[in-house]
Amino acid sequence: QQTNIQDMLDEVADRFSFQLRQKSITAKVKVDRSIKQVWLDRDQIDQVLDNLVSNAVKYTSDGGSISITAMKSKDKAYVEISVQDTGIGIPAKDLSRIFDRFYRVDKARSRNMGGTGLGLSIAREIVKHHGGKIMLESELNVGTTVTFSLPLLQEGGDAK
Ligand code: ATP
Ligand code: MG
Repeated sequence: QQTNIQDMLDEVADRFSFQLRQKSITAKVKVDRSIKQVWLDRDQIDQVLDNLVSNAVKYTSDGGSISITAMKSKDKAYVEISVQDTGIGIPAKDLSRIFDRFYRVDKARSRNMGGTGLGLSIAREIVKHHGGKIMLESELNVGTTVTFSLPLLQEGGDAK
């Protein structure tokens, strides 16, 4: 359905407001002014966003910050949505497997975090079904940025 990106991102930040406040993590949402309505499956993209933001909250220590942004790709054909955190990061050796089902970085640190290791693999499937891509950049002890793209123009409706 046609979805307002600013509203969608504000709403995901709202869903996590309690956990964010509990950890004194500040979250900000920033959307390119030229992006308004995008054609997407709202339930599915919410599932992607909920996982990315829950990861960001889980793996960022108290007092950190999370930023959720939407921009247009260089060729203007896609919207690129990023969730960036100032968390513990992911070691380089794990990056290639991070989208695998059930893969979790070093059990010691994920043990008491809860979760199954499925979130990112499901996110990748959903984004693929939408005709987009997902990628993750991370630096250990610095932070992680996950970016996914969604086509701006699709059957049934185009970007306004
Ligand atoms: P689930 O999403 O099923 O509840 P999960 O969060 O452990 O469980 P994924 O979302 O697939 O699983 O993430 C896989 C692993 O990648 C995590 O266990 C964690 O080790 C690492 N990871 C994911 N996002 C981040 C992040 N923002 N910062 C640091 N590590 C991360
Ligand atoms: Mg997760």
